Amino acid sequence: MGGTPADRRGRPLRDLRVSVTDRCNFRCTYCMPRDVFGPGFAFLERSELLTFEEIERLVRLAAGLGVRKVRLTGGEPLLRRELETLVARLAAIDGVDDLAMTTNASLLARRAAPLRAAGLGRVTVSLDALDDATFRAMSDVALPVARVLDGIAAASAAGFDEIKLNAVVKRGVNDGGLVDLARFARDGGHVLRCIEYMDVGGTNGWRLDDVVPAAEILDRIGAVFPLEPLPPRYPGEVATRYRYLDGGGELGVIGSVTTPFCGDCTRARLSAIGELYTCLFSGSGRDLRGPLRAGADDEELRALLDGTWRARDDRYSEQRADGTPGLARVEMSYIGG
Ligand code: SAM
Ligand code: SF4
Ligand code: SF4
Repeated sequence: MGGTPADRRGRPLRDLRVSVTDRCNFRCTYCMPRDVFGPGFAFLERSELLTFEEIERLVRLAAGLGVRKVRLTGGEPLLRRELETLVARLAAIDGVDDLAMTTNASLLARRAAPLRAAGLGRVTVSLDALDDATFRAMSDVALPVARVLDGIAAASAAGFDEIKLNAVVKRGVNDGGLVDLARFARDGGHVLRCIEYMDVGGTNGWRLDDVVPAAEILDRIGAVFPLEPLPPRYPGEVATRYRYLDGGGELGVIGSVTTPFCGDCTRARLSAIGELYTCLFSGSGRDLRGPLRAGADDEELRALLDGTWRARDDRYSEQRADGTPGLARVEMSYIGG
């Protein structure tokens, strides 16, 4: 033991996604459908959530095992009060050289500058459409898309190292707006990443017919803005990258359904209540909050993290592509995508 662990398939631990809440002010149909996540849904109590101190401690230990990239997510991370305080604590951890957040940006307009000042490096904004009707069909929220666009504008003004835009593509719902999204991202100097709609969780009623394959997404955008492929920047990069031939920047496509990338997956996820998931599609995670609150010392916690990673054998997306039947899965809003 000792050193940085590799899992059973030889993959190191490099990225950690930290969910800071399971709540969200949106009800995206592909993530938290309203008929399941309605008024009666039992969200976590505040006392159940990891405190900032607990998150900081686990992230510091994970950094000691090789984690370099940390991404805050949720639910909607901006619903967690004083997120800036957590950002400042995480930004100060040795080894964490990339601190990012994924958000729906509806609450970002006033938070972008303080988050940047606290040390947040990059922001990814989920934006599935530019017109109100399609935006609403995807997010099922009574807000104008202008709220999200204001958040993006504030993030641009705050000077983050990078702002990416993520669009989940659902056939017959928002695929008609792909070129508009690409144009918007190009004009703003942002990277658009189109994500194949995935069968995460058990509630979104996923059907393969709803998935627009990465190749088709590329054809549609490339027909208007011609593209050429770019090499990956590092092993484990989830998006396949392209550049616009006219110099208009970059486009990413995340084809987790049609082109799985488990072989390079170096990512773990920490749920809002402190379970460590070694795969987005895991049915369960390793509880770390129990030992934390029972007074485990750093060495014990480090051994738990290390052992969980070393035992990892996950390759769900590859198995889905092989036709292997799936296992019970955790909801995306619970571990943050
Ligand atoms: N609420 C924040 C947001 O939407 O950006 C952060 C959490 S959200 C679960 C993280 C990412 O997961 C979002 O970019 C969202 O689009 C993506 N996502 C959720 N459900 C998905 C699905 N079924 N297929 C593909 N991506 C999904
Ligand atoms: Fe909320 Fe993000 Fe899930 Fe949409 S994708 S419901 S914004 S957590
Ligand atoms: Fe990683 Fe699991 Fe996704 Fe494969 S299915 S890329 S192992 S998170």
